[in-house]
Parts: sequence; C-alpha cells; structure tokens
Amino acid sequence: MKKPKIVVLGAGYGGLVTVTRLQKALSVDEANIVLVNKNDYHYETTWLHEASAGTLHHDRVRYDVDSVINRSKVEFIRAEVQDIKPDEKKVILNTGEVEYDYLVVALGGEAETFGIEGLKEHAFTISNVNTARQLRDHIDYQFATYALEEDKKDERLTIVVGGAGFTGIEFLGELANRVPELCKEYDIDYSKVRIYCVEAAPMVLPGFDPELVKYAVALLEKKGVEFKIGTPIKGATPEGIIVAKGETETEEIKAGTVVWAAGVRGSSIIEKSGIENMRARVKVNPDLRAPNQEDIFVIGDCSLMINEEINRPYPPTAQISMQQGETVARNIVKLLKGEGDLETFTPDIKGTVCSLGDDDAIGVVFDKKLTGTKASFMKKMIDNRALFMIGGPSLVLKKGKFNVL
Ligand code: FAD
Ligand code: NAD
Repeated sequence: MKKPKIVVLGAGYGGLVTVTRLQKALSVDEANIVLVNKNDYHYETTWLHEASAGTLHHDRVRYDVDSVINRSKVEFIRAEVQDIKPDEKKVILNTGEVEYDYLVVALGGEAETFGIEGLKEHAFTISNVNTARQLRDHIDYQFATYALEEDKKDERLTIVVGGAGFTGIEFLGELANRVPELCKEYDIDYSKVRIYCVEAAPMVLPGFDPELVKYAVALLEKKGVEFKIGTPIKGATPEGIIVAKGETETEEIKAGTVVWAAGVRGSSIIEKSGIENMRARVKVNPDLRAPNQEDIFVIGDCSLMINEEINRPYPPTAQISMQQGETVARNIVKLLKGEGDLETFTPDIKGTVCSLGDDDAIGVVFDKKLTGTKASFMKKMIDNRALFMIGGPSLVLKKGKFNVL
C-alpha cells in the first residue's frame, strides 16, 4: 500500500514542533514526512528585535534545520512555497512541485501595512534574518555617515518606531541599550539622537497591565525614548513619516530610520491559494483543519482562532504556534491510524513577558506580575524553553541564553 505523504510548510515554531513530534510518533513504514522551508535554517522570530538592533549577532538567532530533524525519517526540501492547490493536493515551489495526502501550513506571518502609503518602500520591518541584518546595518550606516559628513544632518540620527505593541517595545528596549554604544563607537554626542515611538492607540502596549506599562514607559523614557501616543502614522517618505495631528491635520517627522512594527497578518500564500481566509489568516476548525478542507491543517500566524471569553482572536504568538504543532502532530497520527475523533485545540496561555533590553523586562506569568531582573530571567527561560521543545537539551546548550543576571 502507498505510504501517506505528510507535507509541512515552514520550519518556524509551529512547523518544527509538528515535524519533531511526527518523526517521533511514526515509523518510516507508516508515512513519508516532508518539510519545506525557504532557508536551510530556522530562526527564532522572538529574538529578531535583538538582531535588528545589533545587540545580538544574527547567527545567534538561527540554527540549521538539519540539527533538529531526523533525515532518515524526514525529507527536507529547501525551497520557496509559491502556491497551494487544494483541489490537486499539491504545493507549487520555486523548484518544482510536491504532492501531499496531509498538509500542514505553518508559513508564519508578514508585516501588515494597512495600505499606508510609502511604508513598503521606506520603512524597515522586523520579520526575518535578512530584515534584521538590513536594519542593523542601516542604523550603523546612519551613525557612520553622520560622523563623516561636514554638513551634519541631525535627522540622520532620528529613529522612529511605528507601533508600541510588544514588537515595537522590545525593539526599543534593545535600541535604547545599543544607541549609547553606537555614540561611543562613532564619537557622537548622545543628545543628537532622537528615538520616537509613535502609537495610534491612546496607550502603549494596548490592553496590557497598566502598572507594567507604566514601568516600561518610565524605563524607556529614562533612556531617551520619546513616546507619541494617540498618533496614527499616515505615511512614510524618503525623509521620514507623516503622522496625524488632530482631526484633520498632519505633521512630518524627519527621520533617517523608520521601523514599522505595527502589526502582522498571515502569509500571502494563503490568500493566493483560495483557502477561505481573513487578512491571510485561516479561521481554523477546533481540530486545526481549514474549513471545508479535510486534509489541510493551518497553524501559527497563518491561523486564526477566536477566544470565546472575550470574543476576540487569540494574538499570534510562538507560544500558541508550538502548542498547535503538538496537537496537529497528534491529529495526523490519529487520522493515519484511524484512531477516532480528532483532538480539539485549546490554547494554554502561561503568560506574557516583554523584554526591555537584555537586562530588564515586564511580564505576567501564571497571573503573577514581574518586573526587572526577575522578569528578564523569566524571558530568557521562555526563550530557552522554545529551544528545548524543538531540539531538546543539546540545542539549549548550543543556542540558549545563560547570561541571566
Ligand atoms: P514562524 O516561526 O515565523 O516561521 C515561519 C517559517 O516559514 C519561517 O522559517 C519562514 O522562513 C518560512 N516561510 C515563510 N514563507 C515561506 C515560503 N513562501 N516558502 C518557504 N518557507 C517560508 N511570540 C511569543 O509567544 N513570545 C514572544 O516573546 C514573542 N516575541 C516576538 C518578538 C518579535 C520581534 C516578533 C516579530 C514576534 C514575536 N512573537 C512572540 C510572535 C511569534 O514570533 C510568532 O507568533 C511566531 O513566530 C509564529 O510562528 P509560526 O510557526 O507561525 O511562524
Ligand atoms: P501588535 O498588533 O500587537 O501591535 C501593533 C501596534 O501598532 C498596536 O499597538 C497598534 O495600535 C499600533 N498601530 C497600528 N497601526 C498604527 C499606525 N498607523 N500608527 C501607529 N501605530 C499603529 O503587533 P506586534 O507588536 O508586532 O505583535 C505581533 C504579535 O506578536 C502579537 O500577537 C504579539 O503578542 C506577539 N509578540 C509577543 C511578544 C512577547 O510576548 N514578548 C513580543 C513581540 C510580539
């Protein structure tokens, strides 16, 4: 009998948890497992703010896919997914095609620019290793060029971060630590640097614990970050950004660097595939299958699940992606073995910790509020746990964060 073929798209948190669980649960005789990813490495998306600010080398945030998969059980295809054809049960790659019996889509998210003019052309995002390298190098270049220029343009040293969500705040935490180092390196007076955080909502980290938000804002302000809240970004230009001022007016903020950290959507591959979606995310069934698709599971940032308690979508997080990967692996094994009803997925949110640089953080873990070194320690433990879940203790020893205090 032909062995069923399970194809997993994306070697991020969700994809790698799925594959590592499947390779453990199934023998080579039971299934062909195929993993497709555009790079031969996995990157820790949750550490990209560090690589983007230059406080952590980009090689520290990635590891080889080969180091966590069992190549005798899993075929790895390094390729870019271009389309999914559910009717033909195949995936189109830039290198060819791959057919599937069961498909797991775990392609992660993309920056959401809400159609705001100029952002795609003039703003940086924190999305992957390439964008992180580009942003870090761009900031370095601005400082190096400023030091060299005769006719000094101070706006070269202005950095705008759009969005005071977790990504924006974690990046600002790193940046606030990195900028003094850059000033020293390039002999630049710190007072010439301006770091703005521009947020549309009336508060930083909308919806998060107000006491913890106050702590974060005070710490970042002390390090020189200027917050402009209730200020939606309306556009970006080669010179900076345009923000709303009052009901009808706009204002320009000149800046050498604009970072857009104001939201994520699912993968454009989902939209192209014709699978029912909202902003490139699939509202999955409780067993994590796409609606009307018996053989397609969608997890991570490509998936959408409603938290019935508050009637709002769960936020797209690595925490949920990894839990979904575990459920999907079990559900696929059930389907292969004909073991009855599929498992229903319910997120088990253990907490949220937001770093404020390497040395500080805020968070709520198991309903307990944390700040300072305790929170920072917890954040590193969470980062190490993600490594452990995918690659076990050897990966933690190789890539883990041990500079805990
Ligand atoms: P990802 O882990 O993003 O992986 C997607 C994979 O698919 C990547 O390997 C990518 O290369 C590959 N891929 C994409 N498109 C293609 C294609 N066309 N062809 C082939 N391969 C492709 N969440 C938390 O829970 N805790 C945190 O502390 C946290 N911190 C964050 C910090 C930052 C700076 C950011 C940006 C996000 C953070 N998040 C955090 C959110 C979290 O990173 C995402 O929710 C999570 O990465 C989603 O996991 P995923 O498995 O869906 O996709
Ligand atoms: P987000 O959607 O959570 O936050 C985006 C912010 O940008 C919001 O505060 C929004 O009001 C603001 N915004 C939107 N449009 C704007 C505009 N035109 N002008 C100015 N501000 C605007 O996005 P994120 O911070 O990238 O987070 C994405 C996901 O990743 C979330 O689910 C988050 O929980 C998760 N994440 C978690 C952590 C963590 O747990 N430590 C860290 C980073 C990201």
